[in-house]
Amino acid sequence: MAVPLFLDPKLEPPLTPLLASSRFLHDLVDGLGSPLNVVVPDRIAENVAGFRSVYRSHHLEGDISFAHKANRSSALVRRLAATGAAMDVASLGELQHALACGFTPDRIGVTGPKEPELFWLAARTGVTVHIEGHAELEFLASLVRRHELPRVRVLLRLSEFSGTAVKVLSRRSRFGVPAAELAGLLDVCERHHEAVEVIGVSYHLDTTSLDEKALALEGCVRAMDECRARGMRPRVIDIGGGFGVNYLADGAQWEHYTSQLTLAAMGRREPLAWRNHSYGLSSEGGTLRGSLELYPSYRPVAGADYLDELLRTPAPTLGRPLATLLLENLYDLCVEPGRALLDQCGLTLARVLETRREPDGTHSIRLAMNADDCALEEHGILMDPVVLHRGKPWRATENATDSFGVYLHGNLCLESDLITRRLVLLPRLPVPGDLLAFVNTAGYCMDFNAQHAQQRPLARKVAAYQGTGGWQWRLDDQYWPIHSAEDAHEV
Ligand SMILES: *Cc1c(COP(=O)(O)O)cnc(C)c1O
Repeated sequence: MAVPLFLDPKLEPPLTPLLASSRFLHDLVDGLGSPLNVVVPDRIAENVAGFRSVYRSHHLEGDISFAHKANRSSALVRRLAATGAAMDVASLGELQHALACGFTPDRIGVTGPKEPELFWLAARTGVTVHIEGHAELEFLASLVRRHELPRVRVLLRLSEFSGTAVKVLSRRSRFGVPAAELAGLLDVCERHHEAVEVIGVSYHLDTTSLDEKALALEGCVRAMDECRARGMRPRVIDIGGGFGVNYLADGAQWEHYTSQLTLAAMGRREPLAWRNHSYGLSSEGGTLRGSLELYPSYRPVAGADYLDELLRTPAPTLGRPLATLLLENLYDLCVEPGRALLDQCGLTLARVLETRREPDGTHSIRLAMNADDCALEEHGILMDPVVLHRGKPWRATENATDSFGVYLHGNLCLESDLITRRLVLLPRLPVPGDLLAFVNTAGYCMDFNAQHAQQRPLARKVAAYQGTGGWQWRLDDQYWPIHSAEDAHEV
């Protein structure tokens, strides 16, 4: 018999003990509705510590900034404020939120597209501004002069790095100035030196490739030389985010699954997704076309380990490890992980409303949630949800001998409202009243796309933490770091 195409999610504490408290989770959804997002703030502090220990092993200093856009939670941002982490914000609302959650301006940076009000608040409070291009720099400088604002610390965001000895060329980006055009930007900085202080350079590349990132980091070191040659005193290289998460417990499952997807795209096995969706693959006269457009669910080196590997990578033309290059120059290294800091920080719960057997032998499961409540589909696929049967304990290791192919439908009047287009295999069929737990959804899945379609309420979000008497919870906006586990006995 063929091996079932399970995609078992990677599960670590605190999500494992949280799932084991199935009764607690059922009670929460009974009281607060489905879907429900649960975040575990203490884990984000552990993830920061993981990045910090990589810094320490390379003797490096600098900010570990959380890219706020990956989750809107107040609990997570407040918990972070209680660590040594910094914040990377990309909108006026995010900046206000970071300030209100306890971040002082010296621990905040603004990136991305900016409106005049955002520039003003950043400059007024003394937040660092990442400059995306000439126009931004001119605008900021004139704003500072017109409103007599304090001098603003800026990082110059660069893109399109190219190597002389290597062929890798980082891709074009809507953000940042091509590294080759730095001189022009520095002319503008010099002209406005009383309004802006260049404290360093940055990049954020949307790629998993170490080679591309090594090239960019080395390009930043060269850019710092250019700044210094003009008498500037830059000290920070900010290498953005994109350290990634490993979502899957077992890499062999990913190999097996993606190879079967290829066969399905070529019509050599039954479909693995709704209406034979094939994630970018197609077949023309028996030849495979296209490429798999999926975030790699299995990433053996992700998060802080990915940073470690990058720092060990030799600079493409200068040869020494990148960490050495930074140390030699006494530069601070800044990182802006979004997804990676949210690894294992949350899950999304949905109530099963109906289970129906279809003529083709698959089952349709209708959930009290819709696709936008747990949105990963544009970039990847959801791992198998964990079934929390009502009134039964959940155990991490179920010996699955059976499997049921199910499609997970949402609650909107849309044919296309599927939580995942993937045919999901479950070891046991859920019944109405059971919960499906989508784990590790804190990074981008939870609230990035959530909306009030059909007047349906947005999912509530709660912060869960372990106190002396087991799991406790508060609504996300009622949580402050004095409620985390180690402090629980003090209040
Ligand atoms: C989105 C973003 C990040 C975070 O990216 P992740 O892949 O979530 O780590 C960091 N920096 C900037 C400028 C971003 O736009």
